[in-house]
Amino acid sequence: MTRAFKTLDDMGEVRGKRVLVREDLNVPMADGQVTDDTRLRAALPTVAELADRGAIVLVLAHFGRPEGVRDPKLSLALLVRPFSQLLGRPVQFVDWDAADDAIAALRPGDIAVVENTRFFAGEETNDAAVADRMAQLGDLYVNDAFSAAHRAHASTEGLAHRLPGFAGRQMEAELDALDKALGNPEHPVAAVVGGAKVSTKLNVLQHLVARVDHLIIGGGMANTFLAARGVAVGKSLCEHDLAATAEAILAAAERAGCTVHLPYDVVVATEFKPNPMTRTVNVHEVAAAEMILDIGPAATEALGDVLKNCRTLVWNGPLGAFETPPFDAATVALAKTAAALTQDGSLVSVAGGGDTVAALNQAGVADRFSFVSTAGGAFLEWMEGRQLPGVAALKR
Ligand code: ADP
Ligand code: MG
Repeated sequence: MTRAFKTLDDMGEVRGKRVLVREDLNVPMADGQVTDDTRLRAALPTVAELADRGAIVLVLAHFGRPEGVRDPKLSLALLVRPFSQLLGRPVQFVDWDAADDAIAALRPGDIAVVENTRFFAGEETNDAAVADRMAQLGDLYVNDAFSAAHRAHASTEGLAHRLPGFAGRQMEAELDALDKALGNPEHPVAAVVGGAKVSTKLNVLQHLVARVDHLIIGGGMANTFLAARGVAVGKSLCEHDLAATAEAILAAAERAGCTVHLPYDVVVATEFKPNPMTRTVNVHEVAAAEMILDIGPAATEALGDVLKNCRTLVWNGPLGAFETPPFDAATVALAKTAAALTQDGSLVSVAGGGDTVAALNQAGVADRFSFVSTAGGAFLEWMEGRQLPGVAALKR
């Protein structure tokens, strides 16, 4: 398959070449220990493949928000050991000051992590001099950090204009999955959009109504749509000032032939705490003192039937306040349905978003979806239909 961007397959002979590999190594740490090594693991295939092919692999990454100031607590030196352990090979560390000599001493197949790109103030402003300095270190550029691709920084965008650029394996997998979900999907396509607020996902909703056949709205944002339709939502999280916006989205969906699914039964409570007294009611029966905290079982079952008739699903945002039991029920149930349909081969399922990934993990189904993006901000911008600068710069 010919892609819009070049991959490691298009690099040709890399033996002895210095390859700058932009990874996302921005892992959470506590007491000097990596608490979630997902991102380190995601970087392994590209780094290992290039080293096996005899390249001199120079990993570039940011770590935290030093904002141009050298901060030893945000040195990538801290990640060299955990990264090396996961990789099962030695990894060196290269500081910017001594970079040229250190890199000149590396042999084909050697791997080094270069110091935090954000120790340069010009990294985040995509300063030409900083991108030039980074480009001096390498012969080729690989961007493997989809999760940083929504930012036009020197190491995520500027480098692609200075060196021949390629997508790493992780970037390639992410772009392929996203293309299957929204770029070139098999129809019918369903989108689940949930989460807290309409205001944070307006552009997502506007982009999706023109592209998907079924738009399933859940979470707190469903309350805003219900309220706009004249439903009394009591004390629910609700953006009443966005009623007109919600109406406009519903009208746009109707024009585009997109069926919008709002819940018709909901789980309510008067207190927001674990395992409070709850009622499951029709949306028209929410009392003034109650909050809608999850979609009801009847609506959830109906949504499962919608998915059974779809070929593609893209999901961002939980259907309820899933962190607080029992308001994870709808999210878990629909996620299980989607996972089962995916395993049966009838559905391509792609999900993303910080809380969405947490919810799918909680449901125990993340590995049974076709693809789960851990990219957060980049995933959302992609769902808004925006060109990600780091991806655009890799275009053939
Ligand atoms: P993501 O990180 O996947 O993009 P969001 O951040 O948009 O998702 O939304 C997740 C949050 O929405 C969760 O903290 C969840 O508790 C909250 N939420 C979902 N439904 C409701 C609801 N009915 N009332 C209040 N909060 C809700
Ligand atoms: Mg979130």
